[in-house]
Amino acid sequence: MSHADRRKFLKMSGGALIGLTFSGVALRANAQEKVSPSDADAKALEYAEKSPVEGSTCSNCMYIDGAEGDAYRPCKAFAGRLVNSNGYCKIWVKLPG
Ligand code: SF4
Repeated sequence: MSHADRRKFLKMSGGALIGLTFSGVALRANAQEKVSPSDADAKALEYAEKSPVEGSTCSNCMYIDGAEGDAYRPCKAFAGRLVNSNGYCKIWVKLPG
């Protein structure tokens, strides 16, 4: 590999590395996005930020993920986004245990 080829290769791999870094940041940002009740998929599941059903909230639903006590947590029904721990939707199923 000549000097010029090596320089060209290093420039290209540097650009690729920067691109990967920015796409990683974008993925992390999306993971923190909150579900809005006005989103089409949230409407379909009748998601509400505050549960209308006493004793049934996202925090005690089997589809919730993340850390207990957090105000917003990931939900398996809304991949990559967060739901309100006090929220609710029509596919709520009691967390076993
Ligand atoms: S599936 Fe469960 S945790 Fe997810 S939004 Fe519906 S009630 Fe909340």
